[in-house]
Amino acid sequence: MRQIHVIGGGLAGSEAAFQAAEAGVKVILHEMRPTRPTFAHQTEALAELVCSNSFRSDDWLNNAVGLLHEEMRRAGSLVMRAADAHKLPAGGALAVDRHGFSAAVTAALEAHPNIAIRREEITRLPPPEDGVCIIATGPLTSEALGAAILAATGEDSLAFFDAIAPIVHRDSIDFDIAWMQSRYDKKGPGGGDADYINLPLDEQQYKDFVAALIAGEKTDFKDWEKSTPYFEACLPIEVMAERGPETLRFGPMKPVGLQDPRSESRPYAVVQLRQDNALGTLWNMVGFQTKLRHGEQSRIFRTIPGLENAEFARLGGLHRNTFINSPRLLDRQLRLKSQPHLRFAGQVTGVEGYVESAAIGLLAGRLAAAEALGGEQAPPPPPQTAFGALLGHITGGADAKTFQPMNVNFGLFPDLEVGTNPRTGKPMKIKGGDRKQAMARRALAALEDWLAKKPGPA
Ligand SMILES: Cc1cc2nc3c(=O)[nH]c(=O)nc-3n(C[C@H](O)[C@H](O)[C@H](O)COP(=O)(O)OP(=O)(O)OC[C@H]3O[C@@H](n4cnc5c(N)ncnc54)[C@H](O)[C@@H]3O)c2cc1C
Repeated sequence: MRQIHVIGGGLAGSEAAFQAAEAGVKVILHEMRPTRPTFAHQTEALAELVCSNSFRSDDWLNNAVGLLHEEMRRAGSLVMRAADAHKLPAGGALAVDRHGFSAAVTAALEAHPNIAIRREEITRLPPPEDGVCIIATGPLTSEALGAAILAATGEDSLAFFDAIAPIVHRDSIDFDIAWMQSRYDKKGPGGGDADYINLPLDEQQYKDFVAALIAGEKTDFKDWEKSTPYFEACLPIEVMAERGPETLRFGPMKPVGLQDPRSESRPYAVVQLRQDNALGTLWNMVGFQTKLRHGEQSRIFRTIPGLENAEFARLGGLHRNTFINSPRLLDRQLRLKSQPHLRFAGQVTGVEGYVESAAIGLLAGRLAAAEALGGEQAPPPPPQTAFGALLGHITGGADAKTFQPMNVNFGLFPDLEVGTNPRTGKPMKIKGGDRKQAMARRALAALEDWLAKKPGPA
């Protein structure tokens, strides 16, 4: 079967359709706009950028998203070609003229001899007899298709909200105040008894903190988010604070099972941070998902003892975002394990951002095309590449139980080891900027090998 269906003409679907069409496969691209609009899209153009016009850093040597840009360029990405053609001055970032960018993607797809575009909403999952299909319907997947995905994947496997807690750079935390301990010194699976960073608050500090949360300026739920109930398990911290003065002290800020080694007593309240990346450089504030405005988050969270000089790698948020539990559901070919004729791509797979979504679209398009053309599996990209690191994370590297959308970052890449230390006999490691640059160079070398490979057994 030399024809595939792509559902959704956003960043991922447009790139997937282009890649498959370039490989010689006939593609039918189904896009529901303008027949059925979404609340965020403003136009009927394909690959519309719904919010910012930035593709973030374009520095391939020092930044993981810049490296992903470069890998996509080398793999013949339409999204990157259009972005480069409609670039605006933005320092080291790649910002684009949003209308010029989307118009260029739309024109390229409309003109492609292997692509037919159908403006229609798809409301059910296509059966196997319809052939290979890529679902790239994004964070605003229409309700009917969302229900069909939910029915096919099970209740726990489709999320409608993205509840993000702030992430702090470890080296900006004051360890004259913070200490490492797991609650009740309990060892977790594969962990130790001191896996968390703990920050103590006394009674007054706690009360001031709760008052600041309640008074803090919040972002509103958009109309379309109001109708989607959020789960009790991921209530915003300020909503918990409003429920009563003690709610947080019995929730995410509970001090039980923890002892401050300096005062040798149990603090009145505690903020815990959990390791967020394999390298141990990024730490997640446990239970601190929030709808406070970003400026307010930095200001209020820096009142927590130990976080006075905190640098946030990412601030918290809570917004509508449809995504599947990819680590549980998808194989390395981005196929739904239970229905392998269906592939997923883009934000719905649990990657975050325009570039990451388009990158997963590129992979899905190539992998699907190889299958449609020859029935053979194309090898997935090696884990040393940004493509492979991201793919590896969503298809198994991330913990399925706590899976949340992810940007590409060097924490997802396998570590670099350069020989052994003659004194200790242990593997040596490169640190800091040199490490990123060595990883970036390693990635591009691995990418070239991968691009040269022909489809064959994976
Ligand atoms: C409000 C909002 C703001 C955001 N801001 C940013 C930002 O500033 N920067 C950033 O990097 N990322 C941002 N994102 C995330 C952004 O959506 C993704 O990065 C990117 O658009 C995802 O690409 P995608 O192709 O997966 O989804 P989309 O680009 O949304 O494309 C999905 C397409 O599928 C179509 N579709 C949906 N259901 C169906 C159906 N049943 N049948 C046919 N077609 C269908 C939609 O109309 C849409 O065109 C934002 C998301 C939202 C919701």
